[in-house]
Amino acid sequence: MSKNKISIGQVFKTIVWPRRNLLFIGLLLIFIRSAAGLVPPWATKPFMDDILVKKDLDKLPMLLTWVVIAILIQSITSFILTKLLSVEAQLLISELRSKVQKHLLSLPIRFFDNQKAGALVSRVMNDVEGVRNLVGTGLVQLVGGILTALVSIIFLIKISPWMTLFVLLPMSVFGLITLKAFSIIRPVFRERGKITADVTGRLTETLNGMRVIKGFNAEPQEIKVFEEGVYKLFLNVKKSLTSTSFVTSSGTFLVGLASVGIMALSGYFNLTAGDFLQFTMFMVFMIAPIVQMSNIGSQLTEAFAGLDRTEEIMNTPIEDDGTIRTNKIGLINGDIVFKNVSFAYEEGKMVLNNVSFEARPGSVTALVGTSGSGKTTIAGIAASFLNPVSGQVTVDGIDLATISLGSYRSQLGVVLQDDFLFEGTIRENILFPKPTATEAELIDAVKAAYVDEFTSRFEAGLETVIGERGVKLSGGQRQRVAIARAILANPRVLILDEATSNLDTESESFIQESLRTLMMGRTTFVIAHRLSTIRQADQILVIENGQIAECGKHEDLIAAKGRYFNLYTYQARI
Ligand code: ADP
Repeated sequence: MSKNKISIGQVFKTIVWPRRNLLFIGLLLIFIRSAAGLVPPWATKPFMDDILVKKDLDKLPMLLTWVVIAILIQSITSFILTKLLSVEAQLLISELRSKVQKHLLSLPIRFFDNQKAGALVSRVMNDVEGVRNLVGTGLVQLVGGILTALVSIIFLIKISPWMTLFVLLPMSVFGLITLKAFSIIRPVFRERGKITADVTGRLTETLNGMRVIKGFNAEPQEIKVFEEGVYKLFLNVKKSLTSTSFVTSSGTFLVGLASVGIMALSGYFNLTAGDFLQFTMFMVFMIAPIVQMSNIGSQLTEAFAGLDRTEEIMNTPIEDDGTIRTNKIGLINGDIVFKNVSFAYEEGKMVLNNVSFEARPGSVTALVGTSGSGKTTIAGIAASFLNPVSGQVTVDGIDLATISLGSYRSQLGVVLQDDFLFEGTIRENILFPKPTATEAELIDAVKAAYVDEFTSRFEAGLETVIGERGVKLSGGQRQRVAIARAILANPRVLILDEATSNLDTESESFIQESLRTLMMGRTTFVIAHRLSTIRQADQILVIENGQIAECGKHEDLIAAKGRYFNLYTYQARI
């Protein structure tokens, strides 16, 4: 955890320093604003002593002019400050969001197995929000506040050193309280990010799984989980509110104490009315930024807490850092060999044991076996989504572990059971792996996957929007869109997870036809459920407990009357 705690030095180097010019201008503006801000309190003394008491009215227009100019300067600098810094802060937020999203996309599939999508959404969108306080007005206000306070102290000392000392004492106590409070609040803010992510994550899952929830009448349970989550969030906010309100009220109390004290002391030190008023005004000008600093401090603490959590993601190692996978391969034949491949998701729990086989270029390898036997895992390793714990996979004789993922995956196509379609038109969904494809290529793919068979019946054809607002596609139609997409991508290696659900016979025959076209000439790994696919396969691997129990062609395996024969005879579908 400590490794993910971002240090002030790091933040300074990566966020503050690159923007030093802008922040310097901001600081300059704050300085001008603060100096202008000191004019009104300074004016109180001549106003009291010369104009009100001595009735020297000639000085009044000059004095008022100075005060008006000062107020004008204050407003203009404030406006420019916000424009400059707040806009820069928002730009930084969008840059950070893109950076975190980019890093997320380069993380291995395994990372996503253990994360809730909604929680990740919250981390990309919310955790970086806090930096607006770092680059925005927060940081410069903090520095500007310190400067104003320092200058005010000089004025105060000039009027009365003893009274100043009296004011500084409670202020120092306040400073200590504030520092302590922030060290308490930072972990609270960190925790808040986590709770928000958890609650958002669960809510996203709830909304995605509405059919299952309603189907099992599980609404009360989901309501309870959510209620607990938001209550936990409330408790967290309450904790930080208690700390911040303690800081604010102790500030008010100490300021009050100082005022009472200087009232008493002003009589003792024989101040003029002007001196007293000026002292009080400067005191306010010294204290106000200090109290304000406690607010800014809590903003900065929030920023740090968010960055801590962002850092957690940024520190997660990416799939391909370019140091090991240095082999950029050109067009492959697709000769894929597993040599004694073993794999475990959790340490010590082997899921694959010494799997060895060869998938020749352009051949179809059908993986069959009971659920949980390891078929998906083998396909995942062939797709380079998972890396063997021991053993080796070679592609055209080259160790897959050394091949740059980009160069391999650009030659890989994946068609999964309930294939993932975006909300958008059917055309967009098919073009997704190859947006630059020509119209002719697109039409070829559409025809080969028999997508036109149903799109021709839609009014908008390929432009039909699928998803939330558009037409819903049947399981078979979704599959055909996914197949068209894979045909268009024209991969050398294909991973196919056949749908287990029963399709109507017509859809079934269209899909069989289009799959045949898709598999032609490509090294295909198919998690097979259809007999027709299995019969056509060049080799069938019967997987049992993470091992190859049998291997061969359909007829040979039937003749051998072994495990495949049993599976085939006793189970309608494999
Ligand atoms: P199949 O595709 O044949 O149904 P899988 O390859 O999906 O089998 O799973 C093989 C074994 O690995 C199963 O025991 C399963 O529980 C386990 N497994 C699969 N995915 C994960 C995962 N992400 N984390 C931990 N264990 C997993």
